[in-house]
Amino acid sequence: MPLPSAANATPSMAQWFALKHQEPDALLFFRMGDFYELFFADAQAAAMALDIALTARGNHNGEPIPMCGVPVAAAPAYLSRLIRRGFRVAVAEQTQAPQKGQKGPLPRAIVRVVTPGTLTEDELLEAGRANLLLAIARSGDRRSKMIGAAWIDISTGAFETTSVPEVALPELMARLDAAEVLSDPELIPADHASRLAPVAVPPSLDSARTLISRAYGVAQIDALGDFPDEQAIACAMALHYVQRSQAGALPRLSRPMPQGISGVLGIDPATRASLDILRTRDGETKYSLFGVISRTVTAAGSRLLSQWISSPLTNAITITERQNAWLWLQSVPGFTAALGDILKRTPDPARALGRLSAGRGQPRDLASIRDTLIAADDLTALFQPACDKSTPSLIRTLTAGLYGRADALLDTLKAALAEELPARIEDGGFIAVGFDAELDQYRTLRDESRRIVAALQGRLSEEYGIGNLKIRHHAQLGYVIEVPVAAGAKLKERPELSFRQGTASLARFSTEELAALDRAILEAADKASTLERRLFTALCTRILETPALDEVAEYLALTDVLRSCAILAEGGSWCRPTVTDDTDFELVACRHPVVEAALTETGSADARFIPNDCALPPEHRAMLLTGPNMAGKSTFLRQTALAVIMAQAGLPVPAKSARIGVVDRLFSRVGGADDLARGRSTFMVEMTETAAILNQAGPKSLVVVDEIGRGTATLDGLSIAWATLEALHTQLGSRTIFATHFHELGALTEFLPRLAPYTMAVKEWRGEVIFQHEVRPGSARKSWGLHVAKLAGIPQSVVNRASRLLSTFEREQAEARSSLPLFEAVADASEDAPEPQVLHSPALDALTTINPDDLSPREALAALYDLKRLA
Ligand code: ADP
Repeated sequence: MPLPSAANATPSMAQWFALKHQEPDALLFFRMGDFYELFFADAQAAAMALDIALTARGNHNGEPIPMCGVPVAAAPAYLSRLIRRGFRVAVAEQTQAPQKGQKGPLPRAIVRVVTPGTLTEDELLEAGRANLLLAIARSGDRRSKMIGAAWIDISTGAFETTSVPEVALPELMARLDAAEVLSDPELIPADHASRLAPVAVPPSLDSARTLISRAYGVAQIDALGDFPDEQAIACAMALHYVQRSQAGALPRLSRPMPQGISGVLGIDPATRASLDILRTRDGETKYSLFGVISRTVTAAGSRLLSQWISSPLTNAITITERQNAWLWLQSVPGFTAALGDILKRTPDPARALGRLSAGRGQPRDLASIRDTLIAADDLTALFQPACDKSTPSLIRTLTAGLYGRADALLDTLKAALAEELPARIEDGGFIAVGFDAELDQYRTLRDESRRIVAALQGRLSEEYGIGNLKIRHHAQLGYVIEVPVAAGAKLKERPELSFRQGTASLARFSTEELAALDRAILEAADKASTLERRLFTALCTRILETPALDEVAEYLALTDVLRSCAILAEGGSWCRPTVTDDTDFELVACRHPVVEAALTETGSADARFIPNDCALPPEHRAMLLTGPNMAGKSTFLRQTALAVIMAQAGLPVPAKSARIGVVDRLFSRVGGADDLARGRSTFMVEMTETAAILNQAGPKSLVVVDEIGRGTATLDGLSIAWATLEALHTQLGSRTIFATHFHELGALTEFLPRLAPYTMAVKEWRGEVIFQHEVRPGSARKSWGLHVAKLAGIPQSVVNRASRLLSTFEREQAEARSSLPLFEAVADASEDAPEPQVLHSPALDALTTINPDDLSPREALAALYDLKRLA
């Protein structure tokens, strides 16, 4: 429903129209007393989304105005439902308390726009997950291929930026998994379209630079760092959006921190989707990698661990530093338990700081900061005596980072905060007795008067001879004397009493004395609450001006993550992997942490996870894995990819031992990722993904692929699988595990020197198949498809018929196979491949081991002479 014209609106509706025009894309929460009210199309949309009553209020140009409302007290719950359904909400508050004799509507203004990427309330946020707002921009220079990205977590104040080539954008976006995206829709992958904010016009470079320098109070943006144009524009877009969502006020944000993407393991979106790193495909955390390996106990710790496993590193030294740190924690007896005791008491300081800086802080946020600093002290007391020169550097940095960073602030907070804290500032009473003399004085006054009132009740009841005379506080009348109606008649004659109100059973009176006490109490309470609010603001300012708090929060999160790693490695079934700079790859007795956890949970006796080795040494860096469905191929592929992620994130790995030459890019295509919703056939998706691998993988990459070519006719599929495997083996030289149901590919292992055949062990026993889940050298002899069909419950008659058909087909294929171009397999996939007959020559074998990129011109010439000699 389009917005009706604002002409002839009543004064308060005119105000509504004016505010609505400021934020036309958001639902307008219009504050009316204890309710937020919505009108016109907003009301219809919200009533539908929230399942609340749609009514009408007044008329506009002769038509009733559709209306619905939500109580202010329950607003967070409603907001969160609306945000989750993709709405944005503009909150308009009354900016002045009602004055006596006020005419016309109260002044109102939009105080914030709530959007998925700009939330700060705990109720609306997931504790263990970063909530990012991401801006994407190009520089004005059309020739530049780089795209700028800037992302803000307003709930913690983190602000980061980077530049990536256009092709790498989907990967970056998959890694960040932002809640809201600001971008030209043309620039970003289609699957992020639903997260786009409605308007995102990138500013010019000049205005971007001005906006950023203003926001940080510096004369030139260069004072903050050296930002390429596209990053400056992206940063300005994000800043501007946050500013707008907070009605002009900018919450506390770090300066934009440039993030290199070169130090991060490349994981493209399809790989991420196939590995269920932070969440499974249906959005659950429990059976994701994170869900199974996290032993963190704080929200900040789980956010940091999520970040570690979504951005594993490629620098062996940094990875080793992380490992050394958790190994050390593990080596000190009782340490992890002691750390746990402290961390469990630690609140979420980053988010408390976020709320305080956004002006939405409450007393418990001050307590969060206090308890954080107490925890930091307790941790230092644990760490310091245990540290010496041999302590790993990360632990020493951490100890220094936690030690006595804000002692004075902590002392103040300890003295300032009362033991019991109210939920809201307005409730008062959060400042401790003894902290501020003036406050104590008002409070005494207030309490003293209350005591006098209480004493008065006894005195009056005696004086008037009315046993059930009560003094009560009444919302409109203040303190009144309340007596039953009968007794009331008697009191009406008393000159010192004035009758105020009568009900069917009660009469209410006031006296001069009571009124004076009432005024004194009100005044003192008023003064106390104003002063308390002032003290709150002062504490807030002091906290926000203590930069060490951010670092303390980071180190607490780091402690939690390192402890989580140490606990995981306890008991010895997880190992510290050796991470090297070569291209080694060996996992001994490796397991899939999630499948293992699921099996353990079901608890049946035969549900034991079978560990498997995986070796991809330079001389055998490709593995061809055959075996029937259900035998455990996908599990094996995924566990290998996950081991790389865990190892390079600096975590322990579920294996007896592991040696991993740093992987630069990880490609995993396991399990059918259907993309029919996006209008692409399964086969098209498969081919697009295969193309992505072939165009990006290199000698330091790891490629694990399952069933390439399954989505098309057998011969097409076989040919594509064949050519892909050849390219991975011979041209790209990536470490590869290639799982397939095409037995024909087994033939390739004879011709490709670095390809080794493996198969999933299957036992046949009294006509039944038993999957042993064991990876063994060799090739599968048959596919067992019919056995799986039978297991799945296909009727016996159909299985029998299929079995007869299979025999016929196999005979036919055996005849046809003799004509398959098996021998061409050895050749490079290039057009001018040598003829088949030369393929067995030693020269050719030698040729396949040469990587031209690794050779100097002189070495190339020498190699050519060698080859000539061999030919
Ligand atoms: P495939 O890819 O060959 O069809 P999966 O890897 O999906 O097979 O495995 C099928 C099931 O077998 C899994 O759901 C899991 O329960 C079980 N499984 C797989 N690997 C193992 C293993 N190593 N040890 C124990 N059970 C396993």
